[in-house]
Amino acid sequence: MINKRVSELKHIGSKKAALLNNLGITTIGDLLWHIPRRYEDRSKLKEITNAVNGEEITTIVTIISWEQKEIRPNLCLLKAFIQGKNGSGYAIWFNQSYLKRQLPAGTKVILTGKVNFKDFIPQIQVTDYEILGEKDNNLHKGRIVPFYQLTNGLTQRWFRAIIAQALELVGKDLPEILPQSFCKKYRLLSKTEALNYIHFPPNITQLYQAQRRLKYEELLIWELGLNLRRTIYENGVQGIAHIKDNYMVEKLIDNLSFSLTEAQKRVLGEIINDMEKPTPMARLLQGDVGSGKTIVAAGAIVKAVSGGWQTALMVPTEVLAEQHRATLEKLLLPLKIPVVSLTSNTPSNERRIILKKLATGELPVIVGTHALIQDSVIFKSLGLAIIDEQHRFGVGQRAALEAKGRCPDLLVLTATPIPRTLALTIYGDLDISYLDELPPGRKPVVTRILTETHRPKIYEFIRQEIKKGHQVYVICPLIEDSENINAKAAIAMAKTLSEEIFPNFNVGLVHGRLNFKEKETVMNDFRKGKINILVATTVVEIGVDVPNATVMLIEGAERLGLAQLHQLRGRVGRGQSNAYCFLMVNDSSYNNKRLRILTKSQDGFKISEYDLRLRGPGEFYGTRQHGMPEFRLAKIPQDKRILEQAKKDALYICQHKLWTSPEFQKLCQLSLEKITNLTI
Ligand code: ADP
Ligand code: MG
Repeated sequence: MINKRVSELKHIGSKKAALLNNLGITTIGDLLWHIPRRYEDRSKLKEITNAVNGEEITTIVTIISWEQKEIRPNLCLLKAFIQGKNGSGYAIWFNQSYLKRQLPAGTKVILTGKVNFKDFIPQIQVTDYEILGEKDNNLHKGRIVPFYQLTNGLTQRWFRAIIAQALELVGKDLPEILPQSFCKKYRLLSKTEALNYIHFPPNITQLYQAQRRLKYEELLIWELGLNLRRTIYENGVQGIAHIKDNYMVEKLIDNLSFSLTEAQKRVLGEIINDMEKPTPMARLLQGDVGSGKTIVAAGAIVKAVSGGWQTALMVPTEVLAEQHRATLEKLLLPLKIPVVSLTSNTPSNERRIILKKLATGELPVIVGTHALIQDSVIFKSLGLAIIDEQHRFGVGQRAALEAKGRCPDLLVLTATPIPRTLALTIYGDLDISYLDELPPGRKPVVTRILTETHRPKIYEFIRQEIKKGHQVYVICPLIEDSENINAKAAIAMAKTLSEEIFPNFNVGLVHGRLNFKEKETVMNDFRKGKINILVATTVVEIGVDVPNATVMLIEGAERLGLAQLHQLRGRVGRGQSNAYCFLMVNDSSYNNKRLRILTKSQDGFKISEYDLRLRGPGEFYGTRQHGMPEFRLAKIPQDKRILEQAKKDALYICQHKLWTSPEFQKLCQLSLEKITNLTI
C-alpha cells in the first residue's frame, strides 16, 4: 500500500501529482515522510477582544458584513466586520475577493491570524480560516496544526487533507522497521504512532516522542549503512598486516629538526597500531591548519614502504601535489625512498615510465591528483592509500583509490576541522584521530574586520610590513562558482595594486585560469621572496607554507564560510613575526556578527562548530556533495545524543553479525540500499 502512487488517492489528478513530484513525492510512503516544517498550536481558542496587540490567535466569529478596497492596482483589501462572543472587530485578507461569496454574512468561521488594534478596534489579519460545521475531521483548527514545505499551486489546507486521507488509508498499521528490542529499550513509539503523530500530534509531548523516534530511525539507518558496508568489505577479504618493525619510522623522526608534539606521537601510534593489524585500517586524521599532519602521514608511508608495500597520496590540486611531493621528498630521500608525482600535467613519456614502474613495484611512493584513480594506473602492491583534504573528494573516489590495491590500509587527512558530531555522521565508518595540539611557538594571528573606509590605512600597514621584509597575501572575492569571473576580479585587483597602490613592489597573481606551469612559476617566486604581494583567488591555489608571509587581506570575507576563512588565515603566522589577517567586508549592509568569532578565536574546531550551527551542514560544505546525508528530521549537531546512540547500536549490530537475524534483517537490508544509492 505504502508503495502505491499518490494518484491513487482521491483529489489527486495528474496536475497535482506532478506538483507533488516536484517535492520528491511519488508514493504514499513519500507523502507520509514529507514531515511538517513547523506547527501552530491552535488548540486553544481566544476571544478576539481578549487578544494582546500583535498576538497570533485562533478565534470563532460570525461574519456580519463585507467591505472591499482597491489599495493600488493588483492589491485589494478585503475587510469583514466580525462578531465574537464578547465583542466585534475586523478580519482582513488581501486579494481574495472570492471570499465574499464563500463566506457570506451570517457564516460562522474559525479564524487564525495576528491581531492588531486600530483605534481600540481589533483587526485580525487572517492566515487561515475554516467554516464551522464543515466536516473535515478538524484538521486545521482546535489542535496542533502542521505546516509543510510546499510548492506553488498547493495549499496547506489541501495538503493536510491529503495527508489525512493517506493516514486513513494506510496509517493504521505501518510496517515496523526497527527491531522490537530497540523500541522497547528506548521506549520508542511504533512507526504507526510516530507517523500519525508527526503529522497530527494529539499534544506536544507526543509530537516530541514522534520526532525522537523518527530521528533515531533515520540516523540508525545511516550509521548502519556505513558500518555494514565497511564490515562486509572487511569480512570479504583479508587486509594487510604491516611489519611490526618501526626502525625506519624512528629514523625518519630522528632526522627531523624538531620533535613531534604529544598529539602527533599519539596519533602516529594509533595509525601504526591499526596498520599492524590484519583488518584494513580506515582512519580519519583531523587536525587544524598547521597542526603537522604531513609528518604523521610520512610516518605511515615509511612504515608501509619498509615492509615492501607501495603507498599513494591523493590530493585535490596539482599545486598541492607538487608541494607534497617536494615535502615528502625532503623527508624520505635520506631514507633512500624516492617520491614521484602524477597529475594530468605529467608529460606523456614521463607518465608512461611512471605507470610502468608502478606496475612492477619499482616506485614505492606516489603523490597525485585524481589522475591516480584512472584505469591505466596499476599498482603491484598498494598497501596504504592516503587522501589529503578528504572533503574535496567523494566517497566514490575514496573507494576508487582503495580499489587500486587489495584492501589497502586507508588514511584520510582533513585540514578543514569538522566538528566531532558531524565527523561522526559523514565518516561514520571511519575511526577518527585528532591532532589537537599545534607545534610550539605558533602565535595567534591578529584578526580584524574592516570596511572600505579602512582601506587606505590597511594599504599603509601593508607597505610597512613589506618594508620590514615580509610578504602579503591578498585573497580576492569569490564572486561565484565560475572560475572565469573569479579570475577577472583577481586580475583587476592585481592591476590596481601594482599600478596604483604599490608601484614599487612586486605583485604576483595566481588564479584558476592559469596553467600549472604558470602557477608553479608564480608560487616559486613567492616562496623565494621575489614577489611581495600575492593576489590569489582560492584557498587551494595558495596551499603553501611561506613562513615569511605575515599579512593576509581577504576581500569579500562576508561571502566565505568561517571554516574556510580560518583555513585561509592559517597561511600566515607560520614564522617568528606577528601575523595579521584582515577581513574586508565589501557589502556595507552586512552584519558582522558571524565574522566576529574569528577575531576572538584561533581554534578551528570551535569556529567550525559555530559555523555549522549557524549555517547547517549543507551550507557548511558549500553545496550538497560527497554523500553528505540530508536528514528529514534530525539536525546535526543538535541531535548528537541520538546520533551517538545510533552509531553505538549500528556497531553493535555489526559486531554481533546480526544482519541475518530475522529481527534485524529488514533494517540492515534497507540501510545498505540507502547507503549504496547515496554514495555511487
Ligand atoms: P598541516 O597539518 O596543515 O598539513 P603541515 O604538516 O604542513 O600542517 O605542517 C605545518 C608546518 O609545521 C610545517 O612547516 C611543518 O614542518 C611544521 N611542523 C610539523 N610538526 C611540527 C612540530 N612537531 N614542531 C615544529 N614544527 C612542526
Ligand atoms: Mg596539509
